[in-house]
Amino acid sequence: MSLELFDTHTHLYDEQFAGDLEDVFDRMADAGVTRALCIAFDINSSEKSVAMVKNRPGLRASVGIHPHDAEDVPADYLARLAELARRPEVVALGEMGLDYYRDLSPRPIQQKVFREQLALVRELNMPVIIHVRDAFGDLLDILRKDGISKAGGVMHCFSGSWEMARECMQMGFYISLAGPVTFKNVVKLKEIAVRVPLDRLLIETDCPYLAPEPRRGRRNEPAFVRYVAEHIAELRGVSLEEIAQNTTSNAIKLFKIEPQFSG
Ligand SMILES: [Zn+2]
Ligand SMILES: [Zn+2]
Repeated sequence: MSLELFDTHTHLYDEQFAGDLEDVFDRMADAGVTRALCIAFDINSSEKSVAMVKNRPGLRASVGIHPHDAEDVPADYLARLAELARRPEVVALGEMGLDYYRDLSPRPIQQKVFREQLALVRELNMPVIIHVRDAFGDLLDILRKDGISKAGGVMHCFSGSWEMARECMQMGFYISLAGPVTFKNVVKLKEIAVRVPLDRLLIETDCPYLAPEPRRGRRNEPAFVRYVAEHIAELRGVSLEEIAQNTTSNAIKLFKIEPQFSG
């Protein structure tokens, strides 16, 4: 069987893709990236994500509020997310969580909006996509207290220590690695890439941000998830096929993608 990669985190509705979206999809197919998730960060991008994946067989969407945007949510945001989440194209809630690195929303508001969305995650029994930066202590406290759903979740663009990865996996999370794992001098991240069991590992681009080597500094796109997979394969001393097969089947399982549903 030919190579099939799954980019579990993209922002394809970003205006950086507006001019050449069909070329982006062509390069994605050429690279063997047969599936991708389009991830939201606020109400507007939740609607855009759902619209973007409609009638695109390899694409699915998430809806949710990023911690940066927690301060600006409309009063009825939970009802609007719940309504969007029930559409067949939507397979997860997120990205949500805490970001104390940039602190774009006040921390108490980040925590409130995160916990309100976690309640929705449990109510709808959906997988959750977590964004966390410089806030692991508070994030784990909230997750321990509130919990996620039986559907599990993913720590997207993971940047923590091995101990944190292990605790997240014990809570039912997958660990997703993005472009930074290919950068030089990221010793901790390369250690994670080697130690995470293959049945807990996902890959992503987070495009248009964070392009991997050798495309670092340019616009990122789903085709480049192949560089992430290749680098992890090299670090682990296994074939690209083995990384592709495991990460793709993990994503299909987590997001409950129908097997016939490929690009
Ligand atoms: Zn993020
Ligand atoms: Zn993102």
